Amino acid sequence: VDESKSRTDGGKKKKAIPKGVVLDKDGKPCRSCTSFRDWAAMTRKKITPPQSKEPSSTTATATATSLPPDCPPDVETLGRSTWTLLHTIAATYPTTAPREKQDEMKTFMNIFSRVYPCWVCAEDFQRWIERPENKLVPGREEGHLGGRASLEQWMCGAHNEVNRKLGKSEFDCRRYEERWRTGWAD
Ligand code: FAD
Repeated sequence: VDESKSRTDGGKKKKAIPKGVVLDKDGKPCRSCTSFRDWAAMTRKKITPPQSKEPSSTTATATATSLPPDCPPDVETLGRSTWTLLHTIAATYPTTAPREKQDEMKTFMNIFSRVYPCWVCAEDFQRWIERPENKLVPGREEGHLGGRASLEQWMCGAHNEVNRKLGKSEFDCRRYEERWRTGWAD
């Protein structure tokens, strides 16, 4: 918790927002929008690694930095699992998609962008898919929904947008099929 960030406003002292913790719209900390590291720092949680349930001098005092496998997901675990699903959907999309499939995919992505539990992620993603160049328009011959190759590149672009925002390196979209469909060439 970054206590130094306690703010005063009109004489009233406001409670500090812990560093890295994203609040939900009800003003409470949003677990699926926050990394476990920041969440644990906020709650000052002392967690024993899953292998050893016995508290030891190190485990009992250290603040946990990695999410135990049986805990609710943080923003990173949720993100990794979700990208796995989204990229696998793109990698198994028909090479040429019939109109019905295109409609389904557009509906799925639009709903997905509204129900994704990390609301800050969802809102940025909604803005990205609303940009004219990223819009999913069924029935357009050269559109993103026409077939697997196009959808894969669209999904790769969507993920790279988040990578850039988070200061991560961009993925080389030419290697998409190796990563998500065929496996790496030896
Ligand atoms: P991830 O980014 O989860 O990537 C998993 C694997 O995908 C990588 O190891 C790599 O092999 C592959 N990969 C990487 N980039 C690409 C690409 N462009 N195309 C294909 N494959 C690729 N987190 C936030 O903190 N803030 C946000 O605003 C945010 N927005 C998100 C929006 C969406 C729609 C989703 C699904 C997730 C979002 N996340 C956000 C989570 C974030 O993208 C990561 O999933 C999380 O930070 C974990 O990152 P990671 O480094 O483990 O790998």
